[in-house]
Amino acid sequence: MSDLHAISLDWQDFRPCLVVYDKDTGEVSDFDFWAVDFNVSHESRCVGSWHGGEYVPCPDSLIVKGGSVCDSCASAFIADLDCVFEPRCNGEECGMQFCAQEHAIYLAFHGHVAKVGLTASRRLKQRMIEQGADAYSVIAKVKGRKAARTMEIAIADELSLRQRVREIESLAAMTEPSSDEEIEADFAGLAERLENFGHSPSELRFLENYPIRLPLKRMPGMVKPGGRHRGKAIGVKGKFLIYENGGLNALNLQYLAGRFISDGRERAARPLECWQ
Ligand SMILES: [Zn+2]
Ligand SMILES: [Zn+2]
Repeated sequence: MSDLHAISLDWQDFRPCLVVYDKDTGEVSDFDFWAVDFNVSHESRCVGSWHGGEYVPCPDSLIVKGGSVCDSCASAFIADLDCVFEPRCNGEECGMQFCAQEHAIYLAFHGHVAKVGLTASRRLKQRMIEQGADAYSVIAKVKGRKAARTMEIAIADELSLRQRVREIESLAAMTEPSSDEEIEADFAGLAERLENFGHSPSELRFLENYPIRLPLKRMPGMVKPGGRHRGKAIGVKGKFLIYENGGLNALNLQYLAGRFISDGRERAARPLECWQ
């Protein structure tokens, strides 16, 4: 059996799936990482691109650093890469629907850590699940990505809110989760301040169906993606697979994109059901 090339981590509602490509068979499938017994390469190569629902591997299988896709594959489905990293327009310059569509500016809670962020409105709930948020509220919906980004920065400044949650904070929120009441109380304080700035945040929505039972028994240690992973799966929240092997380990599944997975055991290739 050849090594499987990990392409992406996607979610179907609360079910995570690690999309892999088998170059021998040309098949794209959903890798069963729940049986934690596999090797991950240290090297990372371009994950290729998608054309009208068909997967196209990178023609040059390029080694990529600081990302998982090479410029040439990225440009096959993204007209203007610069606009993706830092939005410059509302679709009028780059011509991308990506920039023109309606965006939501949200407040997300990861335990007691609150952050502000933006995403395409149609992907909002999925984005919150990908990030492993405990609850969220929509502050505003705005047409265009640049307009949304401007508002996101303004709100972060007004309320001194963060735009990122650190890995260790996500793991701490699994080890000592906040109760719904605690998050409600944190939200009530922020909602009042948002209203003072003329915003009207939606009610708080909780996300509680992650495939993991919390709290964790102890704080997991981060493990490097490259190397051998073996143990008993505890669950997944956001990008983290938690597994037990002596202590608790946290593997960031997003870091597998681009790497090769070799697998000692026979696994049935599972069909992909996690497409958005
Ligand atoms: Zn490529
Ligand atoms: Zn643009």
